Amino acid sequence: MTLVDTRTPDPKKFIKGATGDWEMVLGLEVHAQVTSESKLFSSSSTEFGQPPNNNVSFVDAAMPGMLPVINEECVRQAVRTGLGLKAKINKRSIFDRKNYFYPDQPPGYQISQYLDPIVGEGKVLLDMGEDGEVEIGVERLHLETDAGKLMHDQHPNMSFVDLNRAGVALMEIVSKPDLRSSDEAKAYISKLRTILRYLGTCDGNMEQGSMRADINVSVRRPGGEFGTRCEIKNVNSVRFAGQAIEYEARRQIDILEDGGEIDQETRLFDPKTGETRSMRSKEDAQDYRYFPEPDLLPLEFDDAFIEELAKDLPELPDEKRARFIKEFGLTAYDANVLVADRDSAAFYEAVAEGRDGKLAANWVINELFGRLNKEDLAVTASPVSAEQLGGIVDLISKGDISGKIAKDLFEIVWTEGGDPAQLVEERGMKQVTDTGAIEKIVDEIVAANPDQVAKAQENPKLMGWFVGQVMKASQGKANPQAVNKILKDKLGL
Ligand code: ADP
Ligand code: MG
Repeated sequence: MTLVDTRTPDPKKFIKGATGDWEMVLGLEVHAQVTSESKLFSSSSTEFGQPPNNNVSFVDAAMPGMLPVINEECVRQAVRTGLGLKAKINKRSIFDRKNYFYPDQPPGYQISQYLDPIVGEGKVLLDMGEDGEVEIGVERLHLETDAGKLMHDQHPNMSFVDLNRAGVALMEIVSKPDLRSSDEAKAYISKLRTILRYLGTCDGNMEQGSMRADINVSVRRPGGEFGTRCEIKNVNSVRFAGQAIEYEARRQIDILEDGGEIDQETRLFDPKTGETRSMRSKEDAQDYRYFPEPDLLPLEFDDAFIEELAKDLPELPDEKRARFIKEFGLTAYDANVLVADRDSAAFYEAVAEGRDGKLAANWVINELFGRLNKEDLAVTASPVSAEQLGGIVDLISKGDISGKIAKDLFEIVWTEGGDPAQLVEERGMKQVTDTGAIEKIVDEIVAANPDQVAKAQENPKLMGWFVGQVMKASQGKANPQAVNKILKDKLGL
């Protein structure tokens, strides 16, 4: 690929070295397992957690004479992903053999796509908060087969092979070298995962290995020529990606500042030490002796196939975020939090529909998500339904309950369930807005505390003490605005 620098150097991201500033350049190759019931070229199941070698056909085991047959569902998923990345879809693409020996790869080659991938250039938008929006280029997306797994811990002097994963479809999504910090790389992985999950084309579960990233890292003088890169293989968490990048950039800077050179190599990140170490020197494309897979025809489809898939695409996070900002008056920050996954967005929308969108966002993000996090629950398992939370928001909007009482009410609904409006009635939680009743309480407190009255008249800030007393006397049910107004009148402030 030809490398183009699309970014203006940003001093905030520079890394201080002994001899001056440095800038990191990052490009990611993300492997995402395609969501499909069977493998890319065989009808074996892809089900996770099966006994070893349960999901292996003659094709996956590379028995002589077996022929691969393309799984159309995987093709659809790759095209849908391409559409989600606003990418060019290639109506004709070619599968190639990438030859290399792995003991858990029976054919001795991986079927991949080399010069003609199914998806071409696309983009991923990152919202970097104060630093604004950054567009990261996608170079390509291609389909390829996964390898099996070696098991070294089952027997004292033998290793075993599990081929359940051999032949499972992967999408390799290759970014342009557009990333300039570990924060951007982390945001890129998260955003990509969000998009894949919205599309339902990969479950994005990094712990289970269904999404993993190879991270290319190089350093250079700000705005200078691209440096030599090292590739950190198979990073399987967003946090590890950040650690690996920070370590690797610093390692390269130290070598260059000592007058050394960077060897282009493949490295491994060790989460235990937080370091990367050399695995092998980098192989070039010619080492793989790529050639078109003779057992498969070029993959071809027409515009109608693409249009059909485009029609059924769900609303994606960027579009949803823009709509939430416009429709519900949300801040960009809140909108980002809410669209980060599809279930959260759907929950919020059900609460916000026909209500004050900002108030709804506040309750969904701060109260509900806060509580769900604490209990380690998914939004789909929330004990408080969208309808119930909407009911609480309604009571606040109508002035029936204060924000404080609403928190108590939320707690009751969370633990006991029930209809919020009915609970407020039954348990006498309604806010007292009747000014006569509040006046009566105020009068009593003012009469009982002449010293405090004198002090407050000198220093109006002390009125807060009276507010506290009135709220206490009303068991938190007095309307705070009314309390403030009446107190000001009575104290002559
Ligand atoms: P390979 O598979 O041989 O590593 P690819 O072209 O598929 O090559 O992927 C290269 C990846 O490395 C891309 O994500 C690209 O953006 C990134 N990259 C290329 N040059 C640099 C560089 N100098 N520094 C950092 N990343 C780079
Ligand atoms: Mg690579």
